[in-house]
Amino acid sequence: MVKNKIIFLKYVRSHYLIVTVLLGIVMGLGLAYLYLKRPPSKNGSFIDPIPPHYIVHTHVNTNAFLPKISPVVPLNKVDLPIIMYHYVEYVKDKNDTIRQRLDTNPYTFEEELKAINDNGYTTYFVKEIPEILEGKIKAPAKSVVLTFDDGYEDFYTDAFPLIKKYHVKATIYIIYDFIGRPNFMNAKELKEVADSGLVEVGSHTLDHAYLKKAKLAYATSQIVNSKKDLENLLGLKVETFAYPFGAFDEQAINILKEASYSAAVSEIYGSVQTPDNLYFLSRIRSGFFAGSEANTLKALQTVR
Ligand SMILES: [Zn+2]
Repeated sequence: MVKNKIIFLKYVRSHYLIVTVLLGIVMGLGLAYLYLKRPPSKNGSFIDPIPPHYIVHTHVNTNAFLPKISPVVPLNKVDLPIIMYHYVEYVKDKNDTIRQRLDTNPYTFEEELKAINDNGYTTYFVKEIPEILEGKIKAPAKSVVLTFDDGYEDFYTDAFPLIKKYHVKATIYIIYDFIGRPNFMNAKELKEVADSGLVEVGSHTLDHAYLKKAKLAYATSQIVNSKKDLENLLGLKVETFAYPFGAFDEQAINILKEASYSAAVSEIYGSVQTPDNLYFLSRIRSGFFAGSEANTLKALQTVR
């Protein structure tokens, strides 16, 4: 009897193991099936994964900025690449790696403008984007926005002549306190650029301030006073803003709205613009074009 009982227990135990293993396999297959059949992520449907080297301070819960009330006028999303330039020059100091990295040389820049012109692209100012999103401006599919950060003097000496030659629109973001410093445009140059009708002047704070998690009074002064000072200096309306270092938060956005800015550009990679990201519009670094006219066209056609 005892012997039979032991045999029986061994029998149950071995089958129990087999059943457990089989159940494990079935559950594993089920989970794998569910994982593979999962719906695509919300963002994945229209925004490419952001390459890590393009991300600058993007730890922002964008849902926090979604409009609380549905807009009366239906708003659209548009595929509108905003290109971000810094220096446009032949960098003389080969040891200046930061400048090399942020530079688009004038030959390359001209190739890019040729690609834009020869292929029938329309250029827009950043200040026109709100109206494009509202449908008041009908931007063709082939549209592009050119932006230049910091207000370097090479914008005046190298980029501006080409902007006039190809008659394209550009938006420059000026650091107010840096106007007239070595390497930066002075007030006279800036006025000439602004009066050309081809260049929108936007604010890039008073002294290239880091606005993320900044004290309220500091952020307010940087955003409000830079606008006021630029408007007084140039006798025009400053409507848009670029975050230094691409760093922003909800507080900065609220101050911008309060100060009647209509839009702001970030350094988040992408070309799809929507009413939801009007105060942190996506941009693409100029290096994305990789030089030639053909590459520029290819890049414009494929970027999303
Ligand atoms: Zn900057």
